[in-house]
Amino acid sequence: MAELSIGENETFDYIVGAGGIHSAVRECANIAYPGFDLKEKWSIADVENWPYSKTFTLTQMKPGLVAVSVPIGENRFRFVSSCENALEAFPLPLKIHKVRREGVFKISVRQAESFSKGRIHLVGDAAHCRTPVGGRGMNQGIADAVELAKRMAGNQMDGYSEFRHREDKKVIAIIECGRKIVTAKTLVARMEFNTVLAAAKYYHLLREDSAGLL
Ligand SMILES: Cc1cc2nc3c(=O)[nH]c(=O)nc-3n(C[C@H](O)[C@H](O)[C@H](O)COP(=O)(O)OP(=O)(O)OC[C@H]3O[C@@H](n4cnc5c(N)ncnc54)[C@H](O)[C@@H]3O)c2cc1C
Repeated sequence: MAELSIGENETFDYIVGAGGIHSAVRECANIAYPGFDLKEKWSIADVENWPYSKTFTLTQMKPGLVAVSVPIGENRFRFVSSCENALEAFPLPLKIHKVRREGVFKISVRQAESFSKGRIHLVGDAAHCRTPVGGRGMNQGIADAVELAKRMAGNQMDGYSEFRHREDKKVIAIIECGRKIVTAKTLVARMEFNTVLAAAKYYHLLREDSAGLL
């Protein structure tokens, strides 16, 4: 039985916590959300008509500071940086026509101890949160929801938590590895970063070659 905030009680087959990082369902169910918070603030800006690059651009300026621009639609670009002003962080003169939104945010890296408790299940940021490196948050949430829906339809809820916890943990570990590399301050780590960039370039060429062969 669920007690609703409007003061009524109701019974459901399942309750799905999809309320994001501060999920009330997770908190009411007393499911721990262990992890850590990054000290620095990050920032985001969505802009129109940035003339420089139509592709994903990643720059690492002074040690620890990273800035990326990602095309997200027709004439729309998203800037994200590990500092408080994503636009100022970018090492190019920006002639931006319109800033559609800007924001500063804190980042937590956390995962619910369990994604299920009885007939209560968690999906998306209610179950896990991570840095924006790799832009995987939404995908992870959708993957949780698809798995949950499939299991609900087949009445096979056992194992949902274990399966999605394991999968999301792997993704978060990769994202954390990427975050540590791109925001690294030591010389060795910065060299690793450059190696990753070089490898990414090679992989891209390889993919084009493969596509040409197919
Ligand atoms: C600045 C920023 C940039 C990001 N960029 C990307 C990106 O480029 N790519 C990507 O994949 N991910 C990105 N993410 C992550 C992505 O936004 C999240 O992973 C995703 O939105 C999580 O979806 P969700 O539905 O689980 O939670 P949310 O998007 O947080 O949605 C939860 C919803 O539940 C509602 N809610 C909360 N509590 C209650 C309640 N008690 N009753 C009723 N409703 C409630 C909220 O109002 C909200 O609408 C970004 C995140 C941030 C902060």
